[in-house]
Amino acid sequence: MDASRFPNLHVSQHPLVAHKLALLRDKATEPKKFRELVRELGARHRLERRLDRDRLGAQVETPLESMAGAELEPKVGLIPVLRAGLGMVDAMLELMPSAEVWHIGLYRDERSLKPVEYYNKLPDAATVQVCLILDPMLATGGSSAATVDILKHWGAARIKQISLIAAPEGVATLSGAHPDVDIHVAAVDRALNERGYIVPGLGDAGDRQFGTFAGPSSEPGHDPADETAEVVRRLQRNLAGEP
Ligand code: URA
Repeated sequence: MDASRFPNLHVSQHPLVAHKLALLRDKATEPKKFRELVRELGARHRLERRLDRDRLGAQVETPLESMAGAELEPKVGLIPVLRAGLGMVDAMLELMPSAEVWHIGLYRDERSLKPVEYYNKLPDAATVQVCLILDPMLATGGSSAATVDILKHWGAARIKQISLIAAPEGVATLSGAHPDVDIHVAAVDRALNERGYIVPGLGDAGDRQFGTFAGPSSEPGHDPADETAEVVRRLQRNLAGEP
């Protein structure tokens, strides 16, 4: 993928991140080790420095005129997308102990790959200025774009997507819908397969963290629905700039 097409995309260049990611991808990595790696990789995004640049300047009105006042630290909200995003929360809280954690529950319909919202207890008005969406896999981009919609509607001033692996199709979808959202990832993989999984990827990030491997849909060899394969083809045409 030509990453220069997406100025909002930030891919880690750190060799340690690449090493940990290789361990995470390995199908022999057990859930306990997998969770540790998700946590470590979550913490390795050089977010602190990027957040520094997001300090919000406060305008002060003196009796005579308006002026730039002291800078305020933005209030940060961590938004783990259930359930796979949960594994990234603790590491981020260690970096940002005063961050608020607001969970969003979205699952993707297996056939249509569309996000379905099932949990959202955000209060009426935004309580934070910067929202970091935590979701290890940016696959179709549908759940991420829907989460950004929710957060913008809530009133968040700035939103970033923090993922471990992205598919080019997901980057194109999210950037197309929300070009103002920065996307931080450890790697961008080759493509989505016809079932909407990232390849080479690491499989289902939720199942691998929580040891739930009963679902046939995430197993190789499971036949995709025609509808699912067509959704993936549409995303690939969108990435290629075709109608
Ligand atoms: N969600 C996952 O956990 N893995 C993928 O490859 C795609 C979506």
